[in-house]
Amino acid sequence: MKKILSVFLSVLLFASFGILAGAECAHEYEATYYPPTCTSKGYTKHVCALCGEHYETFDSAPANGHSYGEWEIHSEPTCTQLGIKKQTCSVCGNFTTDTIPMCAHADADDDYLCDACGFEFEQPDEGELSPYEWLKLLFANILAWFRSLFA
Ligand SMILES: [Zn+2]
Ligand SMILES: [Zn+2]
Ligand SMILES: [Zn+2]
Repeated sequence: MKKILSVFLSVLLFASFGILAGAECAHEYEATYYPPTCTSKGYTKHVCALCGEHYETFDSAPANGHSYGEWEIHSEPTCTQLGIKKQTCSVCGNFTTDTIPMCAHADADDDYLCDACGFEFEQPDEGELSPYEWLKLLFANILAWFRSLFA
């Protein structure tokens, strides 16, 4: 019987504390300011030192935005693949990427094939002789004709 009574009393005690806590608190707010970041506004957090009740008030100024540095080459473009460049925020490390246009095929050794990827360049029409080749052929024919005369 005594035990039941003590449980009943402690429940009553807790309940009355609950009612007291729920009753009007004189709220003594303490403010802490959180400065703006790249992506969020600055704000002040107000916390009641007595009951823990809290709320936030936000700055009217927008977030700072990222402070991106110069573009850095992440991978160089080739004649078959786009390159990639990268920009990093010096404050929070966030980064964005963009593409670099492909470069042209190159043929330094004049074999009508791209030195990097083997792409075939259009070759000049072989049916058409250059004036030099045409003359060479003409002389060769004349020489052959002369030879045939004395054969
Ligand atoms: Zn309070
Ligand atoms: Zn940032
Ligand atoms: Zn190529």
